[in-house]
Amino acid sequence: MVCKYVFVTGGVLSGLGKGITTASIGLLLKSLGLNITAIKIDPYVNVDAGTMNPYMHGEVYVTEDGGETDLDIGHYERFLNIDLSKRNNITTGKIYLRVIEKERRGDYLGQTVQIIPHVTDEIKDEIRSIGKEQGADVVLVEIGGTVGDIEGLPFLEAARQMRLEEGLRNTLFVHVVLVPKLTTTGELKTKPAQHSVQELRRIGIQPDVIIARSPEPLSIEVRRKLALFTNVPYEAILSNYDVEYTYEVPLVLSEQGLHNLLIDRLELDVRSSKPDLTDWVEFVNNLKTPTKDVTIALIGKYTSLHDSYLSIVEALKHASASLRVRVRFKWIEASDVERGIVDLSRCLADISGAIVLPGFGSRGAEGKINAIKMLRERDVPTLGICFGLQLMVVEFARNVLNLHKAHSTEIDPNTPYPVVDLLTSQEGVVYKGGTMRLGSRAIYIIRKDSKIYSIYRSDVIYERHRHRYQINPEYIDLFEKEGFIVSGYSDEGFPEVMELRNSKFFLGIQAHPEFKSRPLKPSPIFLEFLRTAST
Ligand code: GLN
Repeated sequence: MVCKYVFVTGGVLSGLGKGITTASIGLLLKSLGLNITAIKIDPYVNVDAGTMNPYMHGEVYVTEDGGETDLDIGHYERFLNIDLSKRNNITTGKIYLRVIEKERRGDYLGQTVQIIPHVTDEIKDEIRSIGKEQGADVVLVEIGGTVGDIEGLPFLEAARQMRLEEGLRNTLFVHVVLVPKLTTTGELKTKPAQHSVQELRRIGIQPDVIIARSPEPLSIEVRRKLALFTNVPYEAILSNYDVEYTYEVPLVLSEQGLHNLLIDRLELDVRSSKPDLTDWVEFVNNLKTPTKDVTIALIGKYTSLHDSYLSIVEALKHASASLRVRVRFKWIEASDVERGIVDLSRCLADISGAIVLPGFGSRGAEGKINAIKMLRERDVPTLGICFGLQLMVVEFARNVLNLHKAHSTEIDPNTPYPVVDLLTSQEGVVYKGGTMRLGSRAIYIIRKDSKIYSIYRSDVIYERHRHRYQINPEYIDLFEKEGFIVSGYSDEGFPEVMELRNSKFFLGIQAHPEFKSRPLKPSPIFLEFLRTAST
């Protein structure tokens, strides 16, 4: 079968859930038995998401091969249950860097290098080459931002050209729009959607499918109106209304026959025209019919934007479906703890477990350390992730080992007890972009009597990483004497997993297990954490 391309664009405003829509289209196609890959295009000039504050675009999602990517890559991996590569996140920065390198090398000798055709060619080559390398029947290409953004233009132009080159039956344009509801009259308004389709047409793209985000299902009249003004047939106007869990979106779209539309328009060669979503439906049902509630505290410093920790929240949901419990998230802003705005003791009184979130830099660190002390002393099930583990170590050093002013050198370079220190491999690293210890790395589990071994039942596990600092191996003996043992090591010889003996669950991991958690295959460590918290 020749490779097909589905382009997903967005109109009206950003944050409409294009990523979830793209992932949902992918799941329907995959459930028809096709090989799918998905590409996220981010039109910003950064080469990757690694150098951005999570407040800008939410969490940085780490791939197996160590890409620091947009969080939509996480949606694709979770919905499609596949591992993607760092290549699947294309940015303006990556494309321009490559074009400029080629120019310097003399690849375009004699020519004037221009956005069309040189930049657009580079974009098309990259999309096609990813599809080919990953053996895809269908490549989904989500173009980030909103139609009309200047920085998105070269990508839309490349998509427009691809329709011409690949042909009508091999390309499909899906436009995701907002259909807001006026609170005064209760009416759903289509005008913003009409305008955004006009904007898309102005640059030469007529959408084939409209997916309308709205607070409630679209009525027949609203769908008719949208069809008339956007020049899209009535049956290709779909309603993606608000649901409790994003995991319901594929079901909402398949109920409206999106798969039939995809099969017809792309002339897909499939054995059955009905996607097999049995396992997915069961997962969603489990999620929606919990038998018990548990409150989990999430302690971090970007807590006002929950997307900053998206994969951790999703990992908890995967575990919660499997255990049939509902997780109530209690966000605790560590810098508020530091400033004494929150009463920590009260705040932690009614929780069943806590996660000390990953992070960088000094803001909120002391607040997290105070919280860890209380959690440890109260024997509340606690999972520390990356920076969370590092601060568990700092807290233990100060309060149990009496190493006054112990710290991570990331925060206090002059600490007398550098219990967390720069990775040796990071010494002399100057460039900040893409230079952390990244991606899937082996963790060797060295004790069979440990919690981590009982969770994974394996001597070596692989989880994804993103850090520059490590637990300083010089202090291991002191920690272990007091029961805070090292149960997993990296191949470079520093601690990867530490756990407190004689506690319900007090465990920290240098890696980010949340990135590998999937709806139908929850991360083992999150599962065990939540099981302990809920019993
Ligand atoms: N700032 C810490 C480090 O670089 C932890 C990073 C993280 O939590 N991802 O090692």
